[in-house]
Amino acid sequence: MAHQLFGYGDSSITVDLDAIVANWRYIDSLSSFKTKTAAMVKADGYGLGCSSIAIALANAGCKIFFVASLEEAINLKKTIQLRGLNDCSIMVLHGVQNNQEKDFFTHQLVPVLNDLEQISRWINFAKKIGTALPALLHFDTGMTRLGLDTKQANWLIQNKQDLDSLNVQYIMSHLVSAELVEDPINFKQLIQFKKLLRCFASLPASLANSAGTMLGNDFHFQMTRPGISLYGVHPCNKTINKLQPTFSWKARILQVRSAAIGDKVGYGGTFELQRESLIATIGIGYADGYSRQLSGKASILIGGQTVPVIGRISMDSITADVTELDQNSLLTDTAQLIHQDYGLERMALDLKTIPYEIMTNLGHRAKRHYYERV
Ligand SMILES: *Cc1c(COP(=O)(O)O)cnc(C)c1O
Repeated sequence: MAHQLFGYGDSSITVDLDAIVANWRYIDSLSSFKTKTAAMVKADGYGLGCSSIAIALANAGCKIFFVASLEEAINLKKTIQLRGLNDCSIMVLHGVQNNQEKDFFTHQLVPVLNDLEQISRWINFAKKIGTALPALLHFDTGMTRLGLDTKQANWLIQNKQDLDSLNVQYIMSHLVSAELVEDPINFKQLIQFKKLLRCFASLPASLANSAGTMLGNDFHFQMTRPGISLYGVHPCNKTINKLQPTFSWKARILQVRSAAIGDKVGYGGTFELQRESLIATIGIGYADGYSRQLSGKASILIGGQTVPVIGRISMDSITADVTELDQNSLLTDTAQLIHQDYGLERMALDLKTIPYEIMTNLGHRAKRHYYERV
């Protein structure tokens, strides 16, 4: 059993694809049937594995996938094609870079065009091959990151006929603070976005990330672009969370040993034992995305009981005080790194970060297992 779990490695991540599909359906149910719900699977599906997730979602009816880069897009395209899921679109957030035009075209990828340079690059290529090419147009309404700024937007509005060689599928923008429901910036952006849309009257639009899907119908338009919510994390950190958890993170217990009063544990000898103790060494470390900043903060679950992680986090291992565990609990060879007493949100708080960063830092050494009732 444990051998299957870890393979030749020492940690594993089990992903519940049914839960991801259920979360996608739940987010989809928040908007009207006219609004399409895409799936954000950038950064290898937020660390959980883009291919398996995209296939499960495509089989459940999701037709639009977003990734960040051309490389992510090509990988996903190959997977989707192998499965014969040919009616899915892959949108690429970073847009078409210099010399990428041909690859976008051959793999039938849809670039999000983020400035006039990208727009003219894609238009020029469309003219060269004599085909109208698909694209999304991204306007900045407050992020000051990607997207056409006001000046560029005004220029484009005056020169709309240039877009005739493109098949613009959606106009999009991105919300700055959607997770703060009361933040007035949400409505400011909404108003600015609607104003823009009036200049592109007939085109479908997309504004909402996960948090945006929860701001009500006004924010949904023709397509939403949820990411983190699909993976079970409530974007607003709500206690009432209708999203299902989607993954568990486990590591192998490598050794359990006794240690004496006064012994020091780990690099730097930062933790001195105040009693005769049992110390477990577990095969997970900062190289696996188990942050070094968790020293002295985290706990893990062994055989259903919570034990503290002590001493420094090493590259490949951590140490836990298992002195108080009962004998039965120590029969297992597996520790849960995220569990009921120490969830992802709590870990993110301790690390002064957000669940997104922890998930996308989950290391490559952890074998991914996918669970699906068929
Ligand atoms: C990452 C991203 C999203 C998804 O955001 P979540 O908060 O994970 O739902 C949506 N739109 C854009 C442009 C993004 O970059």
